[in-house]
Amino acid sequence: MARALIVVDVQRDFCEGGSLAVNGGAATATRITAHLEHHARHYEMIVATRDWHVEPGRHFVADGESPDFAETWPAHCVAGSEGAGWHPYLRLPADTVVVSKGERAAAFSGFEGRTGDHLTLAEVLRGREIDAVDIVGIATSYCVRATALDAAASGLSTRMLAGLTADVDPQVTPRTLEELAGAGIEVSD
Ligand SMILES: [Zn+2]
Repeated sequence: MARALIVVDVQRDFCEGGSLAVNGGAATATRITAHLEHHARHYEMIVATRDWHVEPGRHFVADGESPDFAETWPAHCVAGSEGAGWHPYLRLPADTVVVSKGERAAAFSGFEGRTGDHLTLAEVLRGREIDAVDIVGIATSYCVRATALDAAASGLSTRMLAGLTADVDPQVTPRTLEELAGAGIEVSD
């Protein structure tokens, strides 16, 4: 099997101190870096997705309104801003393929994004004959979940390394993991 690692949205704004911070985000960045140090050679390729908002419409809450954290969110990961950058604890190999999503609308799944060469994530994986993926990152019940479900739906053997993810609300995480397992995704530590 040719396996890829997909690192989802480990960006400053999603970690402590960011505009849409998830508790444990920085620690997750550290653990993913350690995982890469030990296991990068086991992967055919490394992909990193990022939220990369230019004009995402109602994904960002309007001035003077409160975000509902379902449809509308505080502004985050504005393309080119410091908050959209990788968390400093995340160390990605130089040949990591970067997939940006959400430029003009909300996008939770990495499969909605494109590389700098305008390839979709599915095209990139197909080009390298990837048939299995490990998925890690932030946040478990949002972009990690959506990316994992799309990976499984596209026929990839999909594994989610739950110990290398962080969630917005840890009380919701078990239900998400159950849903992913129900979709045929292997959930491991
Ligand atoms: Zn977003």
